[in-house]
Amino acid sequence: MAKKILSFVLATVLLMSCIPLTFSASAKGKGETVPLVVVSGFATVPLYLHADTPEAEQVFAPSSKRIAKHVSALLLPLMRFSVTNDWDRLADEANPHLAAIFEQSLCDENGNSVLDVGVRTFPESADHYMDFFTQDERDEHGFVHAAVDKLGEGNVFFFSYDWRLDPMDHADALNKFIRNVKKQTGKDKIVLAACSMGGAITLAYLSKYGASDLKTLIMDNTAFQGISVVGRMFCQDYDTDTDTIIDYSFQFGSMAPWIKNTLTKYLKRSCLTERLGDFLIKMSAHNGKRIAEEVMYPVFGKMPGFWVFVPDKDYETAKSYVLDKEKNEELIRKIDRYHYSVQKKAKKILKKAMNEGCNLFILVNYGKYGIPVSTARMNCNDYLIDTSLSSGGAVCASNGQTLPKGYVQKVDCGHDHLSPDGRIDASTCMFPEITWFVRDMGHLDYPYGGDGADFLMWFVCANKQYNVRSDPRYPQFLKYDKLTKKLSPQ
Ligand SMILES: [Zn+2]
Repeated sequence: MAKKILSFVLATVLLMSCIPLTFSASAKGKGETVPLVVVSGFATVPLYLHADTPEAEQVFAPSSKRIAKHVSALLLPLMRFSVTNDWDRLADEANPHLAAIFEQSLCDENGNSVLDVGVRTFPESADHYMDFFTQDERDEHGFVHAAVDKLGEGNVFFFSYDWRLDPMDHADALNKFIRNVKKQTGKDKIVLAACSMGGAITLAYLSKYGASDLKTLIMDNTAFQGISVVGRMFCQDYDTDTDTIIDYSFQFGSMAPWIKNTLTKYLKRSCLTERLGDFLIKMSAHNGKRIAEEVMYPVFGKMPGFWVFVPDKDYETAKSYVLDKEKNEELIRKIDRYHYSVQKKAKKILKKAMNEGCNLFILVNYGKYGIPVSTARMNCNDYLIDTSLSSGGAVCASNGQTLPKGYVQKVDCGHDHLSPDGRIDASTCMFPEITWFVRDMGHLDYPYGGDGADFLMWFVCANKQYNVRSDPRYPQFLKYDKLTKKLSPQ
């Protein structure tokens, strides 16, 4: 109650002093470093059994030893299947092994961890943990590394959380973390960069605590509106084809285009690929429902955190497939709270943050194939999240396509929001003036030392609310060259 009264008083004071506050914040920002908090995405930091003890054992991502043990146990059933063609028997023998890969990270019917599992945390500034942040040059690692270079030691922080659990609880932890950063640095505002799933956690935080502690919020390829493939899989929509599997797999390497094209062409024509594709399609038809019910629902369906990935379109249907109204009453209460008071209210929450004086920037990557296991596989994607969702509503052509000939921008706001490559109409976004699109950049990538990292730092150091017309280097639609690490306007 005290907290409610306090936030009401704070909100009133902020509203009444909106203009002078904005002025003093930008004046203060000049020449003074504002600390950055990067909010991690899904599974960037591993989960451990008995974390923070010498016996800590990694449980997610599952260790390669555990995966090898259970995958090798599939060989015999697969060999038997090649003789019998008995799909039920294959499911009987294989599904328990698939589920066992994840058995240490299970949640119970209420959405709480079964075992004593936790995540590594980073309470000091990120420069204390550079061994961790230099493990990869991309994603959150590269972002933090570039930020430490730019802002200096003691000014960059990294928030991690157990992604399986309730995002509304993570919101409380994030609030504590931000208070601690303010105390450690002696600053009254921070810049917050939400990466991928971190966008959902950040919105939960804003819904509870408002944006009075934030100077700037960067939404970096976030899942704040969910991810189609998760919603579709919970609804048992399995579908694939070998061409897309090949295209999806080949987008991760950085080989020369001619080698890639020759190889993909060869693979797409080979009879081995055809047989594998045939097997996968038949398996999803015969065993898809059982894999869902025996592996996916018991493992991921019981994790409240995983439900942030279910888009609104699929949410109620997915619940009816995955959960039991009585047995999972408590879990349903948790996921409904996030879904209906955060995901569905995202635009309102972000608008309110801007009204409180917080700069907002939304970054979206596209031009990649999404995970090829459902009918959503041809959606314009950053290889994980659909562009239409991470952008908060852009109209996007399917992969390999452009918008129809003669397509006219849906909302006429007096600006041109159609991408020069004809693939995106940004006029329908929640915030079309402050949403940037980078083609051919993978989900979160922005590698350390490249133009992408400079682009991120432009937002981190922004002293005012830029829009897509503020700087000719960074218009609404950009393109990225993976081989040269060059980022340029389309
Ligand atoms: Zn406009």
